[in-house]
Amino acid sequence: MNQEQNLKIYNSLSGKKEQFTPITPGYVGMYVCGPTVYNDVHLGNCRTFTSFDVIYRYLLHCGFKVRYVRNITDVGHLTDDGEDRMAKGAKVAQLEPMEVAQRYTVGFHDMMRVFNNLTPSIEPRATGHIPEQIEMVQEILNRGLAYEQNGSVYFNVPKFAESFPGVYGSVSGRVLDDLYQETRTLKNQDEKAHPADFAIWMKARPEDIMVWKSPWSIGFPGWHLECSAMSTKYLGSNFDIHGGGNDLKFPHHENEIAQNHGACGCHPANYWLHANMLLLNGKKMSKSDGNTITPVQLFTGESSFVSKGYSPMVVRFFMLQAHYRSTLDITDEGLLAAEKGYRKLMEFNKLLQSIPSSAITATAETDTDRAILDCIQNAFEGMNDDFNTAIAIAALNDLSSYINKLANQQLAPSEISPWVLERAKVAVNDLIANVFGLLDDTSGGGKEDNTIEGLMNLILELRASARANKDWPTSDKIRDALTEIGVTVKDGKEGASWSKS
Ligand code: AMP
Ligand code: ZN
Repeated sequence: MNQEQNLKIYNSLSGKKEQFTPITPGYVGMYVCGPTVYNDVHLGNCRTFTSFDVIYRYLLHCGFKVRYVRNITDVGHLTDDGEDRMAKGAKVAQLEPMEVAQRYTVGFHDMMRVFNNLTPSIEPRATGHIPEQIEMVQEILNRGLAYEQNGSVYFNVPKFAESFPGVYGSVSGRVLDDLYQETRTLKNQDEKAHPADFAIWMKARPEDIMVWKSPWSIGFPGWHLECSAMSTKYLGSNFDIHGGGNDLKFPHHENEIAQNHGACGCHPANYWLHANMLLLNGKKMSKSDGNTITPVQLFTGESSFVSKGYSPMVVRFFMLQAHYRSTLDITDEGLLAAEKGYRKLMEFNKLLQSIPSSAITATAETDTDRAILDCIQNAFEGMNDDFNTAIAIAALNDLSSYINKLANQQLAPSEISPWVLERAKVAVNDLIANVFGLLDDTSGGGKEDNTIEGLMNLILELRASARANKDWPTSDKIRDALTEIGVTVKDGKEGASWSKS
């Protein structure tokens, strides 16, 4: 099946689903805006990165050779008060900004592993690409689309809008006048020729601690510039896919596009994908009004928002039950239902894989065969329809009813052909393990205590990733510590399982 020929992607640039055609057949360049590493990664971030992980996984499944670049923002992302988020985090904790970046980058990576997200092909840091950013500022100045003012350099938005009609506003889908109005309320407007102009290089103030030399001043790059410079460096000036959360459309992505045009004269990415927001009990998750839950609280159940802990794979399944472009509301009821759905799917896959083809006896294609093949096709059509995991999961549930009937002897072995069973085994496993990235954490010990189960799954996943990285000391340390408290870990073909000794 040549799935890539049928892949349709919703492109924020056109506001439509489009046939996906990569620039170079067989290859995909994908850039996703990464985290700003100044505090613990929150669940909303996890949802967005999990959405793009599934997109990456599906592109790989389709047979593309994918270069997936996801950056680490460790400078330049300012708070509303104009202070660098990294420097602010460092001051509060009395640390070097790089200590802050290191601490939260490690935490971010750990959490990505817990959610079983694949590592990107390249993970560039903004602070590691200051010369590239300075070069880009110079390019934009050379093309007359920026101006220097007291050591800072500003992008000239009205001039850009005039030179490249229809580009500014294209990704957020808003008209220039509205965007101009929005930017009027932003702070630090005094040096700009127009309120919509934005800094691509900022002269440091005495209190700024993350600073570099440039032809214009000692200072630091504007936040939007890092993504323009790093995507160009690793994927070229025109590449296939650019992703990020919805909230980055404006100003971040609008300004990124403007900078790339300004420096290279062409549109950076052909397809712009935006993941929707994660809500908690119907409201935007926000630390300031207490409407928030951390991933760890969700796993342990230590939060008033949940009645118990949920394993990382249940949370991942919960996220995949919604399409990435829909908002997703975290509720305890939703998670309880997802836990049941996840277990059902894992049980179904185990059952399916355990049926030998020799137990199946149809010799010509049957109605059940056709129904099973339809379910498989529906699952892949769902994925081809803008990576709709919700549809793909529903199709697998439909398929499970035939296999369950076979196991319960409501369907005779003569109603399914061996090759259809084999096709189902491969497709279901491919979708669950490789595309959805769901690990089976249902084979652990006592189920009565879900908090312990969630924690044990988390620990075993951390150990599995240590083993995958050949980090034997960490893996042994985890096993020995568990032995000491009376928990035995067994390594098997399907991964590790545990029991109380
Ligand atoms: P940040 O670290 O704030 O730059 O965000 C990293 C990524 O997480 C960006 O793509 C954001 O759009 C995304 N993001 C932030 N908040 C949420 C949320 N509540 N739900 C989903 N994604 C989010
Ligand atoms: Zn970005």
